[in-house]
Amino acid sequence: MNLQVFNRLTRQKEDFKPLVEGQVKMYVCGPTVYDHAHLGHAKTYVAFDVIVRYLRYLGYKVRYVQNITDVGHLLDTGEDRILKKAGALSLEPMEVVETYTHSYFDDMDALGVVRPDISPRASGHVPEQITMTQGLIEKKHAYVTREGDVYFDVTTFPEYGKLSGQNLDELVGGKRVEVAEGKRHAADFALWRHAEPEHLMQWDSPWGRGFPGWHIECSAMAARYLGETFDIHGGGLENRFPHNECEIAQSEALTGKPFANYWLLTGSLTVDGVKMSKSLGNFVTIKDALKIYQPEALRLFILSSHYSSPVDYSDAALKATQSGWERLMGAVRLVRYTRQNASEGDAAAGFEAVLDEHKARFAAAMDDDFNAPAAIGVLYDLNREVNTLLNSGETIGRPILDSIEQVYHKLGGDVLGIIPDEITETGTDAARQDGLIRFLIEMRADARARKDFAAADNIRNRLVDLGVMLEDRADGTVYKLQ
Ligand SMILES: [Zn+2]
Repeated sequence: MNLQVFNRLTRQKEDFKPLVEGQVKMYVCGPTVYDHAHLGHAKTYVAFDVIVRYLRYLGYKVRYVQNITDVGHLLDTGEDRILKKAGALSLEPMEVVETYTHSYFDDMDALGVVRPDISPRASGHVPEQITMTQGLIEKKHAYVTREGDVYFDVTTFPEYGKLSGQNLDELVGGKRVEVAEGKRHAADFALWRHAEPEHLMQWDSPWGRGFPGWHIECSAMAARYLGETFDIHGGGLENRFPHNECEIAQSEALTGKPFANYWLLTGSLTVDGVKMSKSLGNFVTIKDALKIYQPEALRLFILSSHYSSPVDYSDAALKATQSGWERLMGAVRLVRYTRQNASEGDAAAGFEAVLDEHKARFAAAMDDDFNAPAAIGVLYDLNREVNTLLNSGETIGRPILDSIEQVYHKLGGDVLGIIPDEITETGTDAARQDGLIRFLIEMRADARARKDFAAADNIRNRLVDLGVMLEDRADGTVYKLQ
């Protein structure tokens, strides 16, 4: 079977045919860098990470562009998210941007998300956004107001609403219509905004000092790095309207060509059915989650639901996933351990057929619109087979163990990123840490027994510095991690 994807634009599953055979050009809307990323961001970017990894596994040469929004993303109140944060912290806006851009990449690296090939910043592409806005004005798709704002005229683009399945009447009907001064239609959106002198991020433009609207950055940067038409546009489903819809309108009105051929949008991460978001305060940062959970277990949790569906977060669900992941790793460890002393020769070579069957089923699942949950199911099925083989008492030759390891490495490692090559999972690390702490507790008890209280206190204090709290009880000393 060939790769099929559910195209949000046409609302149907289609055969995936890139513009240039063997190559995929893909754009995904990136984060607005004004705070630490939370698990909702992890859901989106792990999902696209696996899509990119699988495309590469299939042999495609992928150019993956994901922008950094560092200007122009306004709150409903009209405030710029980054400027608001900069004001609150008395920082330069670019200090805020640097801090949270680094934080974002740190989190993504920790989650094993392969970095995009290009991570363009909106503030670094203002000339492109101005050129595009100028082109839209020349083609009468945009107009300049007296204040120096530039709006896209949605009535000039009859297909406006095609991604979100709405038409202009529906968009405006029933809603409070508030037409800003100089704006012709309630659904018209800003390509450029004039800046007051005190506004901290502003540039020269043919319409005076100002800054770009949020939507135009993605159109401009996608065109710059991927061309006027490219293969896949991704993002979170919640940005389908107005953001993605506006991108399509700007780009297609200007070029007269399709913008992206396939639209792949991800479902949200929810908490009790409500989207996790900064503004609702129901969020867990990736950094906090990684203090408790193994990154691979977090990926497994995210991938346990289809990319286009929501996944509901709870501590119980994550704990269950962590145990599920430990089970998966149990078989992987056993294979690696058995391999060390396995004999050469083709004992149990018949298992190759089992591996082939599971590889084929895995590919069939991923070819069906990147169905990672089904692919993970295949890995668990394989685990059962591997456990049965390893516990059968049969002699197993090294070549077949190598083949099993290869399957884990390629499917569980390269594609899904849930099986690490190095065994560094919590079990081992935690066990080692536990052993070291207990050893120090014994040394402290010995010091106290010989009345060397200075040494005993030193051990206790050093442990406290490391966040290890000791509690002396009648039956011995226990410890707690802070
Ligand atoms: Zn975007």
